[in-house]
Order: sequence, then structure tokens, then C-alpha cells
Amino acid sequence: MVDMLEKVNGLHFGLTDEQLMLQKMARDFTAREIIPVAAEYDEHAKFPRDIFEKLREIGLVNMNIPEEYGGLGASLLDECIVAEELGYGCTGISTSASTNGLGDLPIVIAGSDAQKQYWLGERLVDKGELVSYCVTEPAAGSNVVGMETRAEKRNGSYLINGTKTFITNASYANFFTVFAKTDAAAGHRGISAFVVDRNTPGITISKKFDKLGQRASDTAQITFENVEVPAENLLGKEGQGFLIAMKVFDYSRPAVGAAAVGLLRRAMDESIKYAKERETFGVKIYHHQAVGHKIAQMAMDYEAARLMVWQSAWIVEAGRPDARLSAAAKAFAADRAMAAAIEAVQVFGGYGYMKEYPVEKLMRDVKIFQIYEGTSEILRNIVVRELFK
Ligand SMILES: Cc1cc2nc3c(=O)[nH]c(=O)nc-3n(C[C@H](O)[C@H](O)[C@H](O)COP(=O)(O)OP(=O)(O)OC[C@H]3O[C@@H](n4cnc5c(N)ncnc54)[C@H](O)[C@@H]3O)c2cc1C
Repeated sequence: MVDMLEKVNGLHFGLTDEQLMLQKMARDFTAREIIPVAAEYDEHAKFPRDIFEKLREIGLVNMNIPEEYGGLGASLLDECIVAEELGYGCTGISTSASTNGLGDLPIVIAGSDAQKQYWLGERLVDKGELVSYCVTEPAAGSNVVGMETRAEKRNGSYLINGTKTFITNASYANFFTVFAKTDAAAGHRGISAFVVDRNTPGITISKKFDKLGQRASDTAQITFENVEVPAENLLGKEGQGFLIAMKVFDYSRPAVGAAAVGLLRRAMDESIKYAKERETFGVKIYHHQAVGHKIAQMAMDYEAARLMVWQSAWIVEAGRPDARLSAAAKAFAADRAMAAAIEAVQVFGGYGYMKEYPVEKLMRDVKIFQIYEGTSEILRNIVVRELFK
């Protein structure tokens, strides 16, 4: 495959042998462990702890932890390759697993050596714990700077008060990366990032949400009431939280986009399979141009979205993280995956609306890609901001 794709007009589109092996491993895992159970986990909103453990055993959780802390030290492109394969099977399950790689990013990006040794090495690699990423609040989602959670310095520790909502894996996480204001008057320069152990007194999981899609993933609200966090749990310096959160997005958006690409590919594959079987007016339905064109559009979108996602991941690895490319890739992948899932249901006709076929779940699961990790509107705002800078 690498040979076939190599060197098109001086650009290299091939994956390395290691990446092809990684892709195959994730694809086989998805076929064996995720696709057969996805509908059941969705129906019962069952948290996929067992699948998480199996993914951890083969190294597909927290792939971004550097080797010196016991991790795989995988590239962001490697992560995207895996995210696409797992997303193909079930984005509820893949979100549950990939959230550990989101929650650890503030530590990977801004943690001291000692913080990395402990939280990444001991807690995540050795103990296999879960971590959630906590930015969003009931009154502040897109507007991160509007957050109201406070971290007040008191005698060598910080007292955290506030509520974080829509937090993935919160009911199961062993610790949290939390953003809070240490200086309420300083705007984005007043936000700081902390690691907070779940067992700290004052933490309550105050609400567990019932969702339209990605039902295997857990989404809950966390209340922090006079939660005392040691000063050594501050990531970076006071006031650097906003910068850390923005850097996290450069890394996390390509991987989230990749999961949407996986869902898009699934919508396309299911549509092709069905359109080859179903006959109306004496022909297989793909012979009706209206149906064929829908699937052609999915195929075009798949290639374009995957290229954008891979490019945005590659440029991060090249040491030039680009907020515009990360935002554009995630928004494009999410929007095209959304369109593909809707059209897949249409290709299936009435059967597409029924739970006995997989496309109705795709249509429910896909919507969140236009909302979390930056809504499609906010991501366009970023593209505009960068273009007119
Ligand atoms: C299932 C799920 C899992 C999540 N997981 C996490 C998680 O693990 N950690 C975490 O911190 N957060 C998480 N989130 C939160 C998610 O990132 C936010 O929901 C998202 O950022 C949008 O914020 P909001 O819901 O407050 O919407 P709002 O910010 O209130 O936006 C409402 C609408 O207004 C639009 N809008 C707002 N401002 C603008 C603007 N300036 N220009 C144009 N349009 C605008 C938005 O695009 C949207 O359509 C999750 C959310 C869900 C639903």
C-alpha cells in the first residue's frame, strides 16, 4: 500500500509499516470486540470498562504518553489512525477510551517531570486509571473565559469551588484535569490548570446525563465544594490555563475529527452494502442515480476529511501546531460525517429508521461531533480569526 501511494507529485501519502500494523491491529480489534457489542452498549448506556481494559492491554489507550513515562510515545497521526478505526465500530465506545488521551493532555503539555512521573506514569500507565478533562460549565461552554469555577490560594494549597458539566467519563474517572480562575479580574490570563484527585473531599458527581447518542460514553456533572488541592497540582504557572487549554485543542481536535471520519466511513460502507442488496423497480438501488450520488458524496467526503485530519495531525508533529488546520479539520470531518449519517439512513429507506440496522445509531452518535471539542460555529470563528489575523 505504501508503494502504491508513495510520492504523488512530491507529497508522501503513505503510512509507514508500523502505522499500517497499528491500523490493522485497531481494525481487527474493532471488528472482533466493538462492532458485535456496540448496539447493546448503546441500548443500555453501558460504560465499556471491559473494552477499555482490552484496549489498554494492547496499548491503544493514552497513546500520547511519552516513552520515558512508560507510554507508547505515539505520534498524533498514529492516534488519528487508531481513532478512525475505533470510531468505525462505535463512537460511544471510542470516545470513552479516547477521553483518557484528552484528560492527560494538560499534563503532557504543561506538567513538570515529577507531575508526569506520578500522574502519567504511576496513575495512568501503571494503575490503568481514568482521567476526565474538565473545562465546560453550565453557563460557560463555548465561552471558556466565562468560566466561574474559582481556585483560591490558601496556605500552600488551592481551594476549588464551582461546577463542571458535560464531563466525559466523570462518573468513573480517578482524577480530573480542571480549569479554574485564580484571578477573576484577569480575563483569559486569570485561568489556571490543576490535577485533582477524585478522592479529595468536596467532590460530588452531581448529575449523570441521558443522551441522544454515544450512549456508551459516560457524561456527568461535577461539583467542587471547598476542594483543597495541593499547590504542587498546579500545571504550569498560575494564569497559564487558557494557553494550555488552547494547546490541548490543537492536539485533541485532529483525533476527534478522526473518529468522525471513522463514523463517516462506516456510513459509506453500510450504504454500499445495502445498496448492493436492495432492489426497487427491478434493479439494485445503487443503479438509481439519486442513490448512487449520495454514496459517491460520502466517498468524496471521506477522502477529503481524512486528508484534512491527517494533515492537521502531521503539522502538530512537525512542531508547528496550527489552530486553523486543527479547527478546520475537525469541523469539516464532523459536518461531513453528519451529512453522511443522514444520507445513509435515507439510502436504507424505512429500514434506516429501525434499530435492527446500524445506521440509525450512526445518525444519533454523529451529532455530538458538531458540538464537543468546539462547536462547528466556534471552529469556523477560529478559521475566520486566523485568516484575518
Ligand atoms: C456528550 C458531551 C460530552 C462532552 N465532554 C466534555 C468533556 O469531557 N469536557 C469538557 O470540558 N466539556 C465537554 N463537553 C462540553 C462541550 O465541549 C460543550 O457542550 C461545547 O463546547 C458547547 O458549549 P455549550 O454546550 O455551553 O453551548 P453554548 O456555548 O451555549 O452554545 C450554544 C450555541 O450557540 C453557538 N455559539 C455560541 N457562541 C457562539 C459564537 N461566538 N459564535 C457563533 N456561535 C456561537 C454554539 O455554536 C451553539 O450552537 C461535552 C459535551 C457533550 C454534549
